[in-house]
Amino acid sequence: MDIETYVDDPQRQELVKEVRKKIDELGIEYLYLQFVSITGRIMGKGIPADHWESVAKKGFQLVYGATVNLFLNRHGEYFGYGPEAAELVGIPDPETFMQLPWDKRVARMYCTLFRNREEKENPGGFLTADCRGNLRRLHQDFQKKHDGLQLRVGTEPEMMWLKKDEDGKPNGGYSEPYCYHIDQFESLRPVYMKVMEYSRKMGLDMIQGDHEDAPGQLELNWMYDDVLRNADRLTTYRQICAQVAREFNIIACFMTKPFMGVSASGCHHNMSLWRGGEDVFRRTGNDPDDLPGMRENYMYVSGGDNTFMPDGDDPQLPGKAGLAAIGGIVHHLRALTAVGSSTVNSYRRLWDTGFWAPIFADWGFQNRTTGLRVSAPGRFEYRSVDSMVNPYLMGSTILAAADDGIDNNLDPGEPEERNIYEAIAAGKEVKRLPMNLGEALQALKDDEVVQRGMPGEMYRLYSEYKRDEWERFNHTVTEWDVETYLNC
Ligand code: ADP
Ligand code: MG
Ligand code: MG
Ligand code: MG
Ligand code: MG
Repeated sequence: MDIETYVDDPQRQELVKEVRKKIDELGIEYLYLQFVSITGRIMGKGIPADHWESVAKKGFQLVYGATVNLFLNRHGEYFGYGPEAAELVGIPDPETFMQLPWDKRVARMYCTLFRNREEKENPGGFLTADCRGNLRRLHQDFQKKHDGLQLRVGTEPEMMWLKKDEDGKPNGGYSEPYCYHIDQFESLRPVYMKVMEYSRKMGLDMIQGDHEDAPGQLELNWMYDDVLRNADRLTTYRQICAQVAREFNIIACFMTKPFMGVSASGCHHNMSLWRGGEDVFRRTGNDPDDLPGMRENYMYVSGGDNTFMPDGDDPQLPGKAGLAAIGGIVHHLRALTAVGSSTVNSYRRLWDTGFWAPIFADWGFQNRTTGLRVSAPGRFEYRSVDSMVNPYLMGSTILAAADDGIDNNLDPGEPEERNIYEAIAAGKEVKRLPMNLGEALQALKDDEVVQRGMPGEMYRLYSEYKRDEWERFNHTVTEWDVETYLNC
């Protein structure tokens, strides 16, 4: 579907009209038109709401480089998109219209990105630097190819609420590091209740929360949904936390590992593959103004058959599609690490051992020492992902690995029921995850299957951007260098 087919889609046209009604009813004055960069950052433009109809048709323009955060590489060169490049076109997805609960005059919408209509090559085609648009297309292709099989994901983002110095720098946690401690959870109550309020208003079906092992560290969970919807919700959740941090003048920290000697912030991805049946939804957010017909305001409840449910005598062992998908992910886990552990800092989580972050490409049942585990019948959990992840890229590369697993019936091997460190000491041979960003990028370079989850320009942009990040780190003289070598 090129830009004009997308814009003129009759269903979309109806929603464009619904958004107008909503703008008028709610008194919306301003719209954020958002997309997500390759690092998961929310980018975009704001427009006054009276321009809605024209922008819904024409879209907005922005430099291509915004998809890579506009950065120059360390040699001062652009990542292929210099100031001479054409501008991308963002077309709003009206079904994602959502009023901001902290300023009801403003609403946000996600957009799909296209190449400029005036480009010589492939005018108005998909912009493959758009991770969100890619995920939607790849998931549609996956469903077509596998007889309607749909990936549903539930993420568990951990993050830390940190105090702020007068100069804006982090100054320790807002609570003490005691896992599952209700008193510590309680000390964050004003903060998490605000997050809950905004989350429910913005269509996240919040199901539980707890205090984790690090200072100020919380995990709040919402109900799983299809892979794209869940990625949008994780992005929304980050946006909400950033707002709540502004209100309390504290820091919402999604950086993977800000402190040594305590846990880092993981973002386990739970998944299952479903097929057939009618989807059942219910409204979210207790918002009487929910707009009927807009999927964004509805929470998936159930639908179809979970092909991951056990189909034999073993009460935990997933069905055939589940096993093959696990096989695909175990097989490609080293390359997937370049996406799931996407920063230099991510690998501190894997090195600062003893805090439950997995470093082996293996799977088990309730086993928390393996990279993947069947955490409950019907779903498995990919555990090495951390909270800096771009969930759109993670979703599309997981689809690529699962697709390979299903096509080639990849065998994940026997589930490991032992502590894997003991199993290895007893002679088991297991692949290790890459232990730094450079090694992970090499594993991604060597894995053409996982690269299929980054079509068109995406693999080039991601690998160049991340390679540059790795090189910037490698050439930096750190406090550690000075402490260790100054007086040698
Ligand atoms: P843990 O025990 O690992 O801490 P949590 O209970 O915190 O797990 O989170 C489990 C996550 O898995 C939730 O986001 C939930 O919505 C999601 N989930 C539950 N069932 C499924 C499923 N069938 N497919 C995908 N995600 C699921
Ligand atoms: Mg300008
Ligand atoms: Mg959890
Ligand atoms: Mg947790
Ligand atoms: Mg978990």
